[in-house]
Amino acid sequence: MNRKQSSLLYTEALEHIVGGVNSPSRSFKAVGGGAPVFMKRAQGAHFWDVDDNRYIDYLAAYGPIITGHAHPHITEAITRAVSNGALYGTPTELEIQLARMLKEAIPSMDKVRFVNSGTEAVMTTIRVARAYTKRNKIIKFAGCYHGHSDLVLVAAGSGPSTLGIPDSAGIPTSIANEVITVPFNDLDGLRQALEHWGDDVAAVMVEPIVGNFGMVMPKPGFLEGLCRMAHDNGSLVIYDEVITAFRFHYGSTQTYAGLENHDAIQPDLTALGKIIGGGLPIGAYGGTKQVMEQVAPLGPAYQAGTMAGNPASISAGIACLEVLQGERVYEEMERLAITLTEGLQSSADVHGVPLTINRIRGAFSTHFCDHPVTNYDEAQDTDGEAFGEFFRHMLDRGINLAPSKYEAWFLTTAHTDADIEATLTAADEAFRLMAQG
Ligand code: PMP
Repeated sequence: MNRKQSSLLYTEALEHIVGGVNSPSRSFKAVGGGAPVFMKRAQGAHFWDVDDNRYIDYLAAYGPIITGHAHPHITEAITRAVSNGALYGTPTELEIQLARMLKEAIPSMDKVRFVNSGTEAVMTTIRVARAYTKRNKIIKFAGCYHGHSDLVLVAAGSGPSTLGIPDSAGIPTSIANEVITVPFNDLDGLRQALEHWGDDVAAVMVEPIVGNFGMVMPKPGFLEGLCRMAHDNGSLVIYDEVITAFRFHYGSTQTYAGLENHDAIQPDLTALGKIIGGGLPIGAYGGTKQVMEQVAPLGPAYQAGTMAGNPASISAGIACLEVLQGERVYEEMERLAITLTEGLQSSADVHGVPLTINRIRGAFSTHFCDHPVTNYDEAQDTDGEAFGEFFRHMLDRGINLAPSKYEAWFLTTAHTDADIEATLTAADEAFRLMAQG
């Protein structure tokens, strides 16, 4: 497949944009380097690049594009909103409508505030939790990604009683010292950390279903134990549902049928983003009335935003959720994902390529290994080179995946049986070439 124009544009982009990309996850560094593909148009489940190659897309822009690209209902809503003025700086009725929709779908949220990204949403939940508890430390789980604010770009220390180390230059150790990292799915680790740091812990933050080191389900009892231990300690529970909300059903992890005992897994604060903006920039956070009343103008925790709740993002979000309210939307994405993952697994098996697939309804991750993946250590202990090779073979056959072994494949409402069939043909060829070495 010829991607000459992409290469030329990449050379030019490198002159003007740091690293040639506006988010490091878009670079091909983790899959062997070279020019990323420059896309020029997207429709439904398909992309066209600047060399006029067509791709079937499973990136879905890292999650938001669950209805496929340029969905007419969302496009119409955005166009209507923008033609009435892009930004007001005043309240609008639309904001109430989307807030109401979120609250109805996610009952732990009595009150909502809109922001502009998942990063902002998470960052603010931490501030609110600290304001409410008057404590400083945060416990997070290794490998969970919560955006790029200082506090959450912190990696594991060497044990539960060790403080975090910065994952990025520019983050003072004094800030990393406010974060404790424990392994996902490890209640003993959490217990030890809570015993050690006790009254200092403002909140335990988690991706309740992980989307950032593959798709990983919490083990039975993990979220119940987490909520109980945190609350017994006087700490709040923050769910980062930036990926998971509206991903597996019309709602969030907190009410997902694949998890039991919903009453026992309710967080105090939830961070949202991605799908709830229908492809435009958005974030939101919400929680119980008591906790959310910490936020200005009612309370002492300050958070603001010039673009927050802008009519275009809010309209796109409402339209996207309306599409997701359609009948059998999630069942259909799941049906396609089952066909796709079963086909991928059997092709990999036939060609002797070790592959573990974690699928949750219409989203899944492919791990090049022969062991289960239930935490970050296991996700790291997979063959990144094999993933890189697979990624390139797939790209050359017109299948667009995220360029990282940790990212998920997302089905959308626009994918069809024909897309799945074409993807499986490409994958069989990819596995065959990999087996040849
Ligand atoms: N939380 C999670 C779980 C995410 O996956 C992401 C982004 N991938 C974020 C937060 C940050 O969101 P944004 O990129 O919109 O700032």
